[in-house]
Parts: sequence; structure tokens; C-alpha cells
Amino acid sequence: MLAVTAPYTSQLAQALAPGLLARFLRYVRVDTQADRDSGAVPSSPGQLELGRLLLAELRDLDLRDARQDDAGIVTATLPGPDAAPVVGLIAHVDTSPDAPGAGVEPLVHRAYDGSVLELPRGGTRLDPAAMPELSACAGHDLVTSSGDTLLGADDKAGVAEIMTAVAHLARNPDLARPTLRVAFTCDEEIGLGAERVDLERFAARCAYTVDGSTLGELQDETFTAAAAIVTIDGVDVHPGQATGKLVNAARLAARVLAALPADTLTPETTSGREGFLHPYEMSGTAARATLRFIARDFDDDLLDRHVALLRETAERVVGAEPRARLTFETRPQYPNMRRFLEPYPEVVGRAEAAIRAEGLEPVRSPIRGGTDGSILSARGLPTPNLFTGGHEYHSVREWASLHEMAAAAATLVRLAERWAVA
Ligand SMILES: [Zn+2]
Repeated sequence: MLAVTAPYTSQLAQALAPGLLARFLRYVRVDTQADRDSGAVPSSPGQLELGRLLLAELRDLDLRDARQDDAGIVTATLPGPDAAPVVGLIAHVDTSPDAPGAGVEPLVHRAYDGSVLELPRGGTRLDPAAMPELSACAGHDLVTSSGDTLLGADDKAGVAEIMTAVAHLARNPDLARPTLRVAFTCDEEIGLGAERVDLERFAARCAYTVDGSTLGELQDETFTAAAAIVTIDGVDVHPGQATGKLVNAARLAARVLAALPADTLTPETTSGREGFLHPYEMSGTAARATLRFIARDFDDDLLDRHVALLRETAERVVGAEPRARLTFETRPQYPNMRRFLEPYPEVVGRAEAAIRAEGLEPVRSPIRGGTDGSILSARGLPTPNLFTGGHEYHSVREWASLHEMAAAAATLVRLAERWAVA
């Protein structure tokens, strides 16, 4: 196939692309992988390091009030006219713990020819036959990892796009804009990002996370999420003297799992607006076994039902063995943001207008996951999510289209114009 560069979505996107790519390549090389077990704030030192780099760049751009707080969150202000509203732009610097995140060596594939991309390490292949979004990007400049790490487009594409947009606005003071408040958060991937944002200090009327994927995507709906932990205590006895005494907790845990639906209500058998119940970790001995679940749904009542099903199943299976003991814990993780956004239709409306101004049709799809915006919206800062042009997140196959990333950065410039007046 011929390698012909596809056109950008606009002249603005094309003009922003080279600087955007340079930023992105710089940011993905910093290891910012979140660490679920560290207990530190932020959970890994690389997040502070990238934060310091961003802080220096924001100061070079002459943004005001640039600071990094104790939680590692970097904020800065690009002032607009006195009466203009304050609008936030948010991305997260951490990357997922679910794929290797250290030593990212990004590769740029100019004018992608639409064929299978064989990455140099780990035998990783990007096959357009299995990835429709990749086949739609023939002619784009693509960025991948070297095959043995994630890329970190989630969410350094968003970070680079926000930086590129505010740099463009800072260099062009005649362009219409509100007061823009930028925030780069930490530990989004382990669900600890948005709680740590000081909203009083941020003082924005609304915000946008730039943490989506597909070109033109605008998301105002996320899962409602809960976690559940099933702990089973058995009776451990030396197997040589176990006759009639041993109660094996590991075996009971396996029975609980086997008693749950496997053909429905799982992440691998559901899509669209369907929810699920997902055992993501099991550990155990004969004495004690633990099953960790996440439950997800767009409908809060259905979510409660999924959790109730798990509880009833565990009670029935473990209850059949009176000498075993069951502990069931559940906690909410994040809420569907939609009900918090509905009172402010202009927040989504202006984003739609900005996407259209970039020549794109807004893609409205509910997020089968959460974003910082789920928690922020619930805390009173209406925050829908915008596309980044990154794909196949949380895996060594993660890739990004520079053409789509440039469209995202240009969309942010157009969004600023739409918020220039309240
Ligand atoms: Zn993300």
C-alpha cells in the first residue's frame, strides 16, 4: 500500500501537530505508572517528576499561579477577560498499573500504510483486522510503544493536548478565551485522582477531562461503580489428621465463583449499556480465601442488584458449610456523572459546538469505566470527557494517532472560544 499522508482535520490541527508530538514524546518517556500498593501520595515518584516538568513548561508559557501541591497535582491559570467564566481543563499524568510502564520508548510511524504493525519487542502486533479504529487511520502519523510497555497515551495524550492548546492561546492573545484553569492530576488509574483536587482553590464553573479515545468523542455518562470483597474463613487442619475436620476456604471460594453467571453479567460478555460483576483477583489458602470484585452499571438500581446477587450467592454457598465463616464488604467507587451534568446543558453543548467547529461529528457514547470527571461532577464541578486520539489503553498495543491528537488540541482551542462569554 502507498504511504500517503492523510489531511488533518483543520489548518489549526496541522499547525499544532509538530509541537504536540514533541511534547507527547517527552512526557511518555517519564515513568508515571500508578502503584496500587505504595501508600505514598502520589503513589509513584515519576508522577512528581513529570509534574515538575509540566510546572516548568507552564511557567515558561507565562501562565499564572503555576504550582504543584502536596498531592503532586499541578495547576495553573491562563487569564481571560475580567468578566469571563472560569473553565477547567484536566488530564492525569499517571499511567495504568495493568501493563509494564517503565522504559517507554515511543516509535513514530509516519503516514501509516494500513498494514499490520509489527513492533520490535515482545512480539507485539497491531492488526487492523482486529482493530477497526486502526484501519480508519491509514495515512495518519501514529505513535506506538516498542511493544514491551504501554505507550501512556492514557492520559499523556490529554496532557500534551492541553499544554499545546494553552501554549497556542498564550502565544496568540487576540484569540477569544475564558479564564482557563489547567489541572494535571495523579493516581487517576487507581481511583484516587479526583478526590484530591482542591475545588475551592480551582474555583472553576465547569471543566473538561481530556481522557477519552475515539475521534470526536464527548462523554457525559460513566458507569456507577462499586467494589466488593468476599472473605471466607475455613477450618485448617493438617491434611494427615483432616478427616471430617478440614473446611477448605479455597475450595469454597472456587464454588462461589462457579455459582455466579458466566455467560452474562461479565465484562467479556457484555457491551453498550449492560453492566457486569467482575472477579478481578482471587487469593487463598485452606484457612482463608479472598475474592475481589468490581460491579458496574449505568443504572444505580441494577448495580445494587448485581452486588446483591454476589452477596446472596456467597451466603448460599458458604452457608451450606456451617463451620465456615463469610465476610462480605462492599463500597461505592464512583457515580454515573450524568445526573450531575444534566442541570448544566451548556457544558456539553459548548463542547459539541467546539467539536463541530473542528469539522467533526460529536460521538456520544457512555464510558464503560470512570474518569476523574465522575467524582468531580459529583463533587459539584460539572466535568464531561473529551477524546484524545489514543487507543487500546492499558496494554502493550496502546497506540495514538497524531492526526486525531492534533484534532483534540484544536478542539480545545475552539472550546476556549465558545466559553469566551458566559
Ligand atoms: Zn485515563
